Amino acid sequence: FAAPLAAEPSLFKVHSPNVEYTDSHITSKYTYSNTRVVKQADGSMLVQPTEQAFEFKTERTVPRVGLMMVGLGGNNGTTLTASIYANKNKITWNTKRGVQEPNYWGSVTQASTVRLGGDDQGNDVYVPLNEMLPMVHPNDLVIGGWDISSLNLGDAMARSQVLEYDLQRQVRDEMAKITPLPSIYYPDFIAANQADRADNLIPGNDKRAHCDQIRKDIREFKAANGLDKVIVVWTANTERYAELIDGVNDTAENFLAAVASSHDEVAPSSIFALACIEEGVPFVNGSPQNTFVPGLIDLAERERAFIGGDDFKSGQTKFKSAIVDFLVNAGIKPVAITSYNHLGNNDGKNLSSHKQFRSKEISKSTVVDDMVAANHLLYKPDEHPDHTVVIKYVPSVGDSKRALDEYECDIFMGGRQSISLYNVCEDSFLASPLIIDLVVLAELMTRIEYKTGDMTKFSKFQSVLSILSYMLKAPMVTRGTPVVNALSRQRSAIENLFRACVGLAPNNEMGLEHKIW
Ligand code: NAD
Repeated sequence: FAAPLAAEPSLFKVHSPNVEYTDSHITSKYTYSNTRVVKQADGSMLVQPTEQAFEFKTERTVPRVGLMMVGLGGNNGTTLTASIYANKNKITWNTKRGVQEPNYWGSVTQASTVRLGGDDQGNDVYVPLNEMLPMVHPNDLVIGGWDISSLNLGDAMARSQVLEYDLQRQVRDEMAKITPLPSIYYPDFIAANQADRADNLIPGNDKRAHCDQIRKDIREFKAANGLDKVIVVWTANTERYAELIDGVNDTAENFLAAVASSHDEVAPSSIFALACIEEGVPFVNGSPQNTFVPGLIDLAERERAFIGGDDFKSGQTKFKSAIVDFLVNAGIKPVAITSYNHLGNNDGKNLSSHKQFRSKEISKSTVVDDMVAANHLLYKPDEHPDHTVVIKYVPSVGDSKRALDEYECDIFMGGRQSISLYNVCEDSFLASPLIIDLVVLAELMTRIEYKTGDMTKFSKFQSVLSILSYMLKAPMVTRGTPVVNALSRQRSAIENLFRACVGLAPNNEMGLEHKIW
């Protein structure tokens, strides 16, 4: 698992007076063009093009990175760990369709390309997204983490019933060498039906001591594996929502006091997040619960620590954030979105409990709000499509989740359009590559700094990593800034930020070079 420590040679080099490559950094001078709109009393708008000078500085050396997953022994944790091992060791396996080779399909950083520019013959030239800037390769990640279940990863992978048997057979011994670290278990936060696997617990009821133990685990993992950086991802069970109580989790100080007094409303995931903030380690929440209570966000901002969330956006919601964007931008008005799921894995079992389902329901329900609000020709100010989400636990279908969606739309001249989607997907195969993207991008964001005209030194970006929105169902953004759910806009944000870091203008799709005489 040794990662290269020297700066990797770039696939391309930008020749521009605004871009400089040194052994250690890529720096770019960049003009950010934007548009300022001021609404006038008479309802008209005053519009001003604006320009802001930026400098970006990206560290070129890719560090040795450890990925610590909370919920390592679950479906996502074991599927991802085994898949990275198979990719790294080029392990192939037999299926009834023939020999299968490992890949990273479904990961936007590893398996998608972006348009770099055009060649002299007028052809578009594409490069892999992960070649835009130096990024850690998933094969080089050192994997570790925690689980409330003590099963070694070989047996946990078999329990998950996700990977083909012939692959499991080949990786099982290696997987069995990893046993998750004991974790924090407050039974009230996850479904009672999970109790029988909770046999690997940090003892006691002292929440501050629990946090300190997690911090120690991170430090020891880093030291034992010679790592430069660790990223922590919560892929453990969905918790119930923590109650938001003034004086308990509303401010940084109150939250720290609540942890010190082991208050009932402090969730395990919030303890993990706190430990990471205190260690300066990025923490991403892949489940829907409100891990990031306001006090924790305050604390992250105060400590300038990176946080991201919430809830992996894998199947149904990813589709929704693409299709509603398409419909509303096509001038078609969805009036009802009815979503139904059934699944039979342990995630589904946990979600069969009402309070945990409620967290998922909330996270799945806000996904169209910004797209609807963007089109006032179709929707009145407070008007929303009816939006219902149902999830049922059906053990027999295992990890193969079924998602049925109906989009009922008003169209031209009072007509109606009903679009029905039936999506059968193996859940953990969709979610695991997202974990890679979250880690690769979160790590990269720790190496990019910016400076605007009036700043004397470079700064890291804001704590809340909204750039991760593409991978997340209910993207967290800095308070007071807009949430973007539309999938294409989320992808453009990634692509164009990386372009800016190498001094290139955003891809604008104008294609003027092909339209002029
Ligand atoms: P899973 O139930 O197979 O795995 C979760 C693991 O977390 C289990 O091994 C469990 O023992 C462990 N766990 C529970 N509480 C813990 C704690 N406090 N500390 C450490 N470990 C703990 O579930 P999964 O399919 O791997 O999904 C994981 C999470 O990701 C779920 O919350 C799910 O809702 C979310 N998610 C999954 C997808 C997907 O497509 N698979 C999509 C979005 C979100």
